[in-house]
Amino acid sequence: MSLVVMKFGGSSVADADKMKHVAGKIAAKKNAGNKVVAVVSAPGDTTDDLLEMAAKIVSNPLAREMDMLLATGEMVSISLLAMALDSIGEKVVSLTGPQAGILADDNYTRARIKKVNPRKIKACLTKNNIVIVAGFQALNPKGDITTLGRGGSDLTAVALAASLEADSCEIYSDVEGVYTTDPRVIKDARKLDYLSYDEMLEMAGSGAQVLQSRSVEVAKKFGVEIHARSAFSEKQGTIITSEEEIRRKKMEALLVSGVAFDKDQVKFTMMDLPDIPGVAAKIFSRLAKIGVNVDMIIQSAAVDKKNDISFTVCKAEMKKTHTELDKIAHEFKTPQVVFDEHVAKISIVGIGMKSNPGVAGKMFEILYKNAINIEMISTSEIKISCIVDELDMVKAVEELHKGFGLFRKK
Ligand code: ASP
Ligand code: MG
Repeated sequence: MSLVVMKFGGSSVADADKMKHVAGKIAAKKNAGNKVVAVVSAPGDTTDDLLEMAAKIVSNPLAREMDMLLATGEMVSISLLAMALDSIGEKVVSLTGPQAGILADDNYTRARIKKVNPRKIKACLTKNNIVIVAGFQALNPKGDITTLGRGGSDLTAVALAASLEADSCEIYSDVEGVYTTDPRVIKDARKLDYLSYDEMLEMAGSGAQVLQSRSVEVAKKFGVEIHARSAFSEKQGTIITSEEEIRRKKMEALLVSGVAFDKDQVKFTMMDLPDIPGVAAKIFSRLAKIGVNVDMIIQSAAVDKKNDISFTVCKAEMKKTHTELDKIAHEFKTPQVVFDEHVAKISIVGIGMKSNPGVAGKMFEILYKNAINIEMISTSEIKISCIVDELDMVKAVEELHKGFGLFRKK
């Protein structure tokens, strides 16, 4: 008998009809001869609504109480889903994160899972129950309920699949899987059959939002193969697995698997910095201290013992960054700070890049042929990213998608 972990996102349990539909899918999986553990998110926009409600009461809510509040969303889903399953004759038990043995550290609102103690889940499964677990929540060492960061139900599902040594981990959402690029923007985007953990992480970090990044890191660490698929169709989705497994199955990896893009970028430049040791260290350690996450960085060659440093941050961190840079500029006496929020990052991602030279050249050629100016470049082993003008973003994605042969074959 196989053990299957099925995870359903908020859009799959947004209303009573969808809950009943999901109950039907879970029952079908059980009746096909599997043991089933289902993880669910809060219905629809519940988490956002709860956050909004708290913001109306206080601008700086207590983190412990925030977790107490947010955890209620998932509890709505587990109880209703259990009722739906019971009503169609299934034996079922719902469990909160703490009841399910999900133990985390004491960082409220973004706790990290430390350990899973699946004793109670196993006992329920042995008694032939379907087990429904609230995603996104855990118990901390103080005995308080905590949450795992936005999108944390994916992490719950992967952690449970790892600790129960499940035969499969299926993550259901309202999209059919991971696409070569966002199908809402590029019409002929194609669903990928396979993607490696690292490609998925790079795509997620570059704008594609299918799975929570931390859940993919944990899946990679414990070798949990994820099947990302739609709750509203029977079609095969995308398997996220190890690079070795992909090479074994497909013989050859694609040169480029996807094109990601992200408008949530602001480019800062500090001009005329002194060309002496310690300048970059000062800027970036100060930004790190105030919790700013820096993405791309370039430093120009020095002219007259002065140079410029440019880097990008996400838009939410623009104000904080600007204030800090003004202070630093003041300390250096001369440098000027400029910023541009009308930029976008476009990235191509693929494990095939490792063994094929010339991918960067081809990317730049495609952008050049379309008169798109590159403002910054950064690379990793399996990703090349460029910062371009926001107005060129869609065109750039379209042409790269076409140029690397990613479109749907007719
Ligand atoms: N309900 C939580 C959120 O919206 C967790 C999740 O959906 O995975 O972030
Ligand atoms: Mg959600």
